[in-house]
Amino acid sequence: MPEVNPKPRAWSWLFYAFLIFAALAFSGVFGPTGARTVPYDEAVRLVEQGRVESASITADDVVLRLKPEGPPPAETSKKPSLLPTPPPKGEEVRTGRIPGVEQEPLVSALLTKDVAVDAQPSRTPFWVMALWWIVPLVAINLLFFAAFRRGAGGGVGGPLGLTRAKTRLYDRAAREPVHFSDVAGVDEAKDELVEVVDFLKRPARYRALGGRIPRGILLVGPPGTGKTLLARAVAGEAEVPFFSLNASEFVEMFVGLGAARVRDLFNEARKSAPCIVFIDEIDAVGRSRGGLGALATHDEREQTLQQLLAELDGFDPRATVILMAATNRPEVLDPALLRPGRFDRQVIVDRPDLAGREAILAVHGRRLPLGSDVNLGAVARRTPGMAGADLANIVNEAALAAARRSGTEITQADFEDALDRVQLGLRRRGIMMTPGERRRVAVHESGHALVALALPEADPVERVSIVARAVSLGVTIQVPRDERHVLTETELEARVMVLLGGRAAEELCDGSPSTGAHDDLGRATAIVREMITRFGMSRRLGLPALTRNVGAPLLGLTQEERLCSDETAREIDEEVRDRLAELFGRARALLEGQRAGLQAAAEALLERETLTGAELKRVADEATARERAGAA
Ligand code: ADP
Ligand code: MG
Ligand code: ZN
Repeated sequence: MPEVNPKPRAWSWLFYAFLIFAALAFSGVFGPTGARTVPYDEAVRLVEQGRVESASITADDVVLRLKPEGPPPAETSKKPSLLPTPPPKGEEVRTGRIPGVEQEPLVSALLTKDVAVDAQPSRTPFWVMALWWIVPLVAINLLFFAAFRRGAGGGVGGPLGLTRAKTRLYDRAAREPVHFSDVAGVDEAKDELVEVVDFLKRPARYRALGGRIPRGILLVGPPGTGKTLLARAVAGEAEVPFFSLNASEFVEMFVGLGAARVRDLFNEARKSAPCIVFIDEIDAVGRSRGGLGALATHDEREQTLQQLLAELDGFDPRATVILMAATNRPEVLDPALLRPGRFDRQVIVDRPDLAGREAILAVHGRRLPLGSDVNLGAVARRTPGMAGADLANIVNEAALAAARRSGTEITQADFEDALDRVQLGLRRRGIMMTPGERRRVAVHESGHALVALALPEADPVERVSIVARAVSLGVTIQVPRDERHVLTETELEARVMVLLGGRAAEELCDGSPSTGAHDDLGRATAIVREMITRFGMSRRLGLPALTRNVGAPLLGLTQEERLCSDETAREIDEEVRDRLAELFGRARALLEGQRAGLQAAAEALLERETLTGAELKRVADEATARERAGAA
């Protein structure tokens, strides 16, 4: 990748030179004379003793030139103690003046003694006076210049460490270039960007065909899905300079600086075409104007946005500069930014699907020593909804887990460990559970697991654990067989029954329920509610959609909006209650049929803490079979 115009050192040296020079000028090295400073009374005495040949007076001080060497006057020899160190003859001494005194003793003494006196306004040479003005001005200007120019080269070269962090304006992908092969699981987005790479590589061909290449591309997607990575990959593939600027970094800076940086960035980019200009987190400046947010504090953002719009419009359409921006909040962007000619093409970078997740795991694992038992597909199945950044984190955690046990390669168990850590939080070692509590958790989790194992429509049970972790005391992990996009009513019911299985098991074994199921209840209720109000799965309320989501579903930022009358809303509540009760009854009945199995599963969990779904099933089935044989 071509390096553009890095000459920061010269500036910082010049700057330091000026600083030193300024310090010297102010400290008086270039100032009055090399005269020794003496106390005022001593100066008066010297004059009265007739030892002064001539004097020079300014507004600030008096310099006395002493008479050349000669026999000391008689007076002084009488009281030598008053002059412990008589100045050498011919020397010059200096003393200050007493301000605001009409008849200054020293001046009067000089005049009475008939010393040749010369007076001038100031002893400082004109050029030093000029420097006093020029140096600070130059210094301030340099500071600003440096700040505007990305800390004069960025990094260590900046003139002041202070401004360094703020002034990293654009990096030209100085880091290792990123390629498309480093980005996985976002194939549609990649496909769209391939064209851009092609254009950057062979602009002439596109122009000859009269093709209109999009000027501005907005990458839209949830955090951590690889938007920044993709933008860098486009630059890496096209082998062009990459100017990137994070909008959130300069909104809090001095007014005017954000706009100046935008201007600067675009100037630089024009010079380096073909190239890519990337504005990350553009929503930080590109928020809609108006509304409550438009009060005084947002002046800076407003200016920056104005500048950005101006630059977007002022671009020579023939320049081979591609503008890219990324946001995870497209809904807040100022519509002006999205108008034709600006960021008019949007590329969605969504969370990866199952295959995509596996591919991303593979990308991040490709340089690591993965054991032969590692099954990235299985890891991908356990991570629905995760974005690229989360998956990168899982791989990293797995590597750390391997390192902790001093292994030489990363095994599947390390991945399991990493998944538990990331999804469930760290083990809570300190937590003290009473034996009674542990038993309750074991029964509860066994209930979830056995209901899931009994229902063919439920997702298979991967693992059951009663290791206390940050977010839960126990957990039943189910892993879908494959990525699901459509769920049937039976499948949804199965989910709800599995969620209610924990509570049902507690009731069966301990008689009374506990607080342990509150999360389960919340999720079960939400599913049943959706079945009734949105999926038309209620015989009583029929097909109408009774609520809808408003907001940005892609980002999971939605709010429910009711589309029905108050009366219907009440009916919904009743229906939710009835449906939950019915499903709870069915889950409980399932468990009642295998009480012994439930007990045995809970015992096994208490003993071993973690069981696979298959192990748990075997334990439960054996116990149930024994019980039936005994009863028969
Ligand atoms: P965003 O800008 O969308 O918030 P980033 O591009 O900053 O996300 O992603 C952060 C990190 O997560 C990347 O540096 C990369 O290591 C990893 N990552 C994210 N998405 C992907 C992906 N699709 N493929 C590979 N790695 C990814
Ligand atoms: Mg980003
Ligand atoms: Zn539960």
